[in-house]
Amino acid sequence: MTAIDPVANLSALIRCPSVTPAEGGALTALEAMLKPLGFTVDRVMATEEGTPDIENLYARLGTGGPHLMFAGHTDVVPVGDESAWTHGPFSADIAGGEMYGRGAVDMKGGIACFAAAVARHIDKHGAPEGSISFLITGDEEGPAINGTTKLLEWAAARGERWDACLVGEPTNPDHLGDTIKIGRRGSLSGTITVHGVQGHAAYPHLADSPVRGILSLTRALMDPPFDGGTDNFQPSNLEVTTIDVANKAVNVIPSKASASFNIRFNDTWEADNLRAEIIARLDRAAAESPLRPGRPPVRYDLTWSERPSHVFLTRNNALIASLSGAVEAVTGREPKLSTTGGTSDARFIKDYCPVVEFGLVGQTMHMVDERVAVADLETLTQIYETFISRWFGHAAD
Ligand SMILES: [Zn+2]
Repeated sequence: MTAIDPVANLSALIRCPSVTPAEGGALTALEAMLKPLGFTVDRVMATEEGTPDIENLYARLGTGGPHLMFAGHTDVVPVGDESAWTHGPFSADIAGGEMYGRGAVDMKGGIACFAAAVARHIDKHGAPEGSISFLITGDEEGPAINGTTKLLEWAAARGERWDACLVGEPTNPDHLGDTIKIGRRGSLSGTITVHGVQGHAAYPHLADSPVRGILSLTRALMDPPFDGGTDNFQPSNLEVTTIDVANKAVNVIPSKASASFNIRFNDTWEADNLRAEIIARLDRAAAESPLRPGRPPVRYDLTWSERPSHVFLTRNNALIASLSGAVEAVTGREPKLSTTGGTSDARFIKDYCPVVEFGLVGQTMHMVDERVAVADLETLTQIYETFISRWFGHAAD
């Protein structure tokens, strides 16, 4: 039966050079796997001025509920120094039990295994009582503007509704079965600019050093800690990512200093009350500034960059239990339920249905010689197949 072998699926996908924003043939290869299984496939072009056009794919098998979505991306990051690769980045060569290629683990491998799992499920039990869909973007590694968000909006506008979603990003640090992600921290960034008065370093009373101000303000952002962590999340953490003065003269007090920061925050906070807390800290530090005794408050402005990523935590037990039970049944490992790491497209999907993430071992993602153990492809396929059976079993209860 077609698509039943994850190794063949993955080699077909890796051979398509789909570096964002290029489709590279990868969606066509996936379409060729899904159509013979009975999926209705739509290719959805998304455009926005100032960003490259992106092709995405939505495929659905079945018309009724319950409805399980598998989400992911076929685009990949650039290969880097191609001559440094042991095997070509689009070769899908197998050596020493591993398949080489950009996207092997992030995340063409996850897609290859899920397609194989669906094929096996159909082969053994026929099409599921309900629906399975693939929501696959070509814009996850790029600006992510013409990707998952727009595809979700497009599908929802057609009346698509989902009961649960599995994202196939690589979630395991060392071994297949280590970790399921059941949430993600939020992310918020900003830039502070402190305005001083330029002058001679020997006559500081005639000037006002913005460096003293920026040091007080950034310190107030880093200390004290924002919280001590929660049941499901590590403590929120703010990093000052740059401090810029750009002053070349040692005898000049500059007029301006700026600093940027990024905070990864847990479910103690929402973006709004976190912004208020940050402003309160900055105002307090500006008023007190011990580095500028007797001076008026530090003059600063603050700009928030980009849209914040909101924190989320999935509490859907049927979904989490089906997946973690499947991982344990196939690997013998009880996976950790984690919320660590960066953001992913799950942050968009969570507005439509409960979402969890589980995929391959992430060790070589984005690196030269990205590769996956061939044995892991078979194991992940079995986990996904078991998950599909269990989830539809749960949903029918
Ligand atoms: Zn990825």
